[in-house]
Amino acid sequence: MIPPTPDRPDALLREASARIGREDAEPLLAHALGRDRAWLFAHATDPVAAESAAAFRALVERRATGEPVAYLTGHRGFWTLDLKVTPDTLIPRPETELLVELALARIEPGMPARVADLGTGSGAIALAIASERPLAAVVATDVAKATLAVAVANAQALGLDNVWFRRGDWDQALGGDRFDLIASNPPYVAEGDPHLEQGDLRHEPPRALSSGADGLDAIRTIVSAAPRHLVPGGWLLLEHGLEQGAAVRALLAQAGMVDVQTARDLEHRDRVTLGRMPA
Ligand code: GLN
Repeated sequence: MIPPTPDRPDALLREASARIGREDAEPLLAHALGRDRAWLFAHATDPVAAESAAAFRALVERRATGEPVAYLTGHRGFWTLDLKVTPDTLIPRPETELLVELALARIEPGMPARVADLGTGSGAIALAIASERPLAAVVATDVAKATLAVAVANAQALGLDNVWFRRGDWDQALGGDRFDLIASNPPYVAEGDPHLEQGDLRHEPPRALSSGADGLDAIRTIVSAAPRHLVPGGWLLLEHGLEQGAAVRALLAQAGMVDVQTARDLEHRDRVTLGRMPA
C-alpha cells in the first residue's frame, strides 16, 4: 500500500485561501504549526504532520463561520507588542495606535508621569505607553475580572513593571487619584448599529463596543469625571467613532477643557479627540 502523500504548507495555504483568503490562512497555519509566518515560506514544501494539518483545517472551518483570527490564534500585534487576546477582550485595532502616538507626544521621555488607561481590555494602550515611557506610572482599569487577568498576563509576559491594574467602571477605579494624562478607547458604537452584527464585532464583548442609544454614554461618563482626576494642564484623550468628533469636542469644552481638537486616523477619519485642563 502506498502511504498517503503528506500535506505541505504551500498546498494547505492554497486550499485554505480559496475558503477564507490568504491573509487569514497564513496566521492560522503559522499558529497550527507553532511557527512564524516567514517559516511557512522557507519550508513551503516540507511535509506537515497529519495532526497539524488536521488542527489547521479545524481552525479554517471556525474562521469560515466567522470567528476572529485573533481569537483563534490567541494573539494580535499592537504597536511594537505582541498581545494575548481572548473573547474577554476587544481585539486591538491599528487605528488605536493613533491614540498611543498622541499620548506619547504629551508624555515627556525621561520624566516621571502619571497616566491612566480606562477600559484597558488586553492592555494595549497602557502597555504601549508603559513600554515607551519607562518612567511613567500607568494605571490600567477594567470592569471585568477576566479581562483584567489578560491585561495582567500581557504586562508580565512583556516584563513591564510600571503598570498597575485596578478593577472598576471608568472613573470609579481611580479613587481620589489625579493623573497627567488619561487615555481611553471606550465603547462608542450606538446600540442597534448594524455593524455590531458584522465581522469580528459579533464575537467581541458587547460592553467593549456599544454604549447607549448614541454610543456616547461611556464617553459622557469619562468626560464628566475627568476634571476630578486630571492635574492642572493634564490631558484627556478619547478614541471615538468617525461621526462623533463634534459631539466629543463639545463634551470636552463643556467640562472646561481647553486646546480641544480632533485627530484623524490613517484613513482620514475623525478618530481621537483630546483636550486638557487649564494650567
Ligand atoms: N473601532 C471599533 C469598531 O467599530 C469599535 C471599538 C470601540 O467601540 N471602542 O470596529
